Amino acid sequence: MSAWTSSRVDAGSNTDWQQRLTDALAHSNGWSTTIQPLVNRLAGSEPLSLEDGMVLYTHPNLNEVGRLAHFVRTARFENKAFFNSNVHVNQTNVCVLACKFCAFRRSKRAKDAYAMDIEAYLEDLAQYAEHVDEVHSVGGLHPDWGVEHYEDLFRATRKAFPHITIKALTAVEIKHLSQLSNLDYGQTLARLKDAGLGSLPGGGAEILDDDVRAIICNGKESSQEYLDIHRAAHSVGLSTNCTMLFGTIETLEQRLQHMISLRELASETKGFQCFVPYPFLPDDTRLPEAQLATGSEILRTIAISRLMIHSIPHIKAYRMNIGDELAELALQFGADDIDGTVQKESIMHLAGSTTPLDHDRFQLARLIKDAGCIPIQRNTTYESFEIYVPPEPKRRKRLKVVQE
Ligand code: SF4
Repeated sequence: MSAWTSSRVDAGSNTDWQQRLTDALAHSNGWSTTIQPLVNRLAGSEPLSLEDGMVLYTHPNLNEVGRLAHFVRTARFENKAFFNSNVHVNQTNVCVLACKFCAFRRSKRAKDAYAMDIEAYLEDLAQYAEHVDEVHSVGGLHPDWGVEHYEDLFRATRKAFPHITIKALTAVEIKHLSQLSNLDYGQTLARLKDAGLGSLPGGGAEILDDDVRAIICNGKESSQEYLDIHRAAHSVGLSTNCTMLFGTIETLEQRLQHMISLRELASETKGFQCFVPYPFLPDDTRLPEAQLATGSEILRTIAISRLMIHSIPHIKAYRMNIGDELAELALQFGADDIDGTVQKESIMHLAGSTTPLDHDRFQLARLIKDAGCIPIQRNTTYESFEIYVPPEPKRRKRLKVVQE
């Protein structure tokens, strides 16, 4: 076993990763004439442009795009791949909005609407608490729950389970609490942090383009508000993740501009830890015009995320959304993190995810090892890490040889 700590900015990266990348690319060969200019820019620590991103999206050789992303991933993390031990508790499905793609939300009067009070939330978490060090909680915009409710919830959670970090609330939930409690974003976030909030998961970015947002999530925070809320979180000392929901109605340019907006904020605040690109899952939602990403498009988008976003250390292959098989492959296409054991999740599963929820650390570690990587268990804020040594798998039974 080996454990180490890191700063929020490095988040486990090799601190000299840019130099390592320059050296590795200098010794590489076999690039096509289309990709070689991008290789040169990355070797010179130059950020890729939107036009470069379009080259990557339209290049016919997916493996070459993945190979380049793997160079960057390896310069940063070698062949380590990160996971954590967590559980999702979605505190309520009652929501005052009705985003077009959302299969989870319910109106307050719906038969299957629920809103866990603090006792119910703690009871739910208690079933998993012994095995996790993170609870991931996002939910609907409940019309009656202001910042005071969440202060009480987080204080009670930290008191009952001091070893568990609370990663909770998307940007639109922060906006909703700020409005209900008549506070600005910084005040809301500072109060929640004081009460025990440890990090924001970064959900709800969808595509940071207001024309797309007006169609797929009308009424949610604007693109600028998403960025402002995360900037406010970073300024009060909360590190956050950020996401991208792709495969609805957006163009490739809008995806790339989304990545560029986030990398610029990351360069300014140094507060993003992880970028999580995940595809839209169509079941039971209300977006028939969605384009739906294919498996190769998912891998390509993960690889392009790694190549476009130099200022956010981790790129996550969100297994809860893309499935274990694709998450495993993505570790060779620029991703370095596969999220956690999860154990319980509603939002993606209501939208059609079939990813198993009963994964223990051993199974995740096997998935990572099968991808040729070293499994590293991390904490929520990517400041402490431990190499996870799984028990030896049971020996496979010998195949019976048919006797002539
Ligand atoms: S995505 Fe969030 S804000 Fe939108 S309807 Fe669903 S729960 Fe509500």
